[in-house]
Amino acid sequence: LLFNKYQELKGNIRVMCRVRPVLDPSEGDEAKILFPDLKTSTQIDVTGPEEKSSLGNVNRKVVPFEFDRVFSPSIHNEEIFGEISQLVQSALDGYNVCIFCYGQTGSGKTYTMSSTDGMIPRATHMIYDSINKLKEKSWTYTMEGSFVEVYNEELNDLLTPAKDAEGKKKLEIRHDDTRKQTAVLNCKSVILDSANKVESMLQQAQNNRSVAATKANERSSRSHSVFILKLVGENAATSERCEGTLNLVDLAGSERLKHSGAEGDRMKETQSINKSLACLGDVIEALGRGSAHIPYRNSKLTHLLQYSLGGNSKTLMFVMVSPLEAHLKETLTSLRFATKVS
Ligand code: ADP
Ligand code: MG
Repeated sequence: LLFNKYQELKGNIRVMCRVRPVLDPSEGDEAKILFPDLKTSTQIDVTGPEEKSSLGNVNRKVVPFEFDRVFSPSIHNEEIFGEISQLVQSALDGYNVCIFCYGQTGSGKTYTMSSTDGMIPRATHMIYDSINKLKEKSWTYTMEGSFVEVYNEELNDLLTPAKDAEGKKKLEIRHDDTRKQTAVLNCKSVILDSANKVESMLQQAQNNRSVAATKANERSSRSHSVFILKLVGENAATSERCEGTLNLVDLAGSERLKHSGAEGDRMKETQSINKSLACLGDVIEALGRGSAHIPYRNSKLTHLLQYSLGGNSKTLMFVMVSPLEAHLKETLTSLRFATKVS
């Protein structure tokens, strides 16, 4: 697969772009679609905004962007999962893995990551299958899941209803620097020993999010959600042990949020999102450059994921974009961000 092919050449960071389909005709006629002939490949050509030349001619520049892979709108989640299945396997082999969905609100992050057809249920199903097969080789695995939200630079437990969380101890990040593992103190975790448990866990997280906000959608697009799977395997025959983590991250909407106009809580939210996304970009970029100092501590999200970013861990970023002309500006901003980290 692609991941292995480029492993030595390109290190442990991959960036892929997914263009969502036009959802229904009301979204725009054909003339308003940015990528009418996009093929699944490694390049996406964006026809930029209209620019006037000195002679008064109106031109639109075509800007090419290169990624490890670009998925056209006709590609289904099943094929997307094909690209990440090796990373899921790596987590079983004891690696720490992070998979992110980045993009503006409405670009398909949640559809890709957490829908019933998305990467979270697909990854857990694959892990069940692998664990069963590994039993024949004397491996016993436990899979433990937790689900947290980063909102306004604070961590919330998505598996504990907001009303029960009141008065309880705050979540805290604890790094084990020798084992290079991270625990979240005071956070609920669930042993996922059946597929049903994954479904009810996702449902619970969804409910808790909705209760916490008047407009559930709005809240979910303004916070990062992190599904954390801890995989611990022990081999009875050889006494080997391995411990890996798979983090599946649905990031807050990346749309440019202006400080002006926003007041109070909104202002704080806006600053938190801008800061944490910029910080994630800085961390991944610094890792790609092989920098000696990685600024993990500059945001809650990168602090939480410190041991799953860098070192010998593996990172995949999906940048999600809309196919519509109306979203051109945000699409260009997202693709530039993705280029910076790739
Ligand atoms: P985001 O989480 O980035 O805000 P969503 O995942 O909620 O965006 O997607 C916005 C809408 O587009 C949803 O109704 C979703 O079902 C739909 N959608 C997104 N991507 C696809 C896709 N690849 N195929 C079909 N529908 C999609
Ligand atoms: Mg979403």
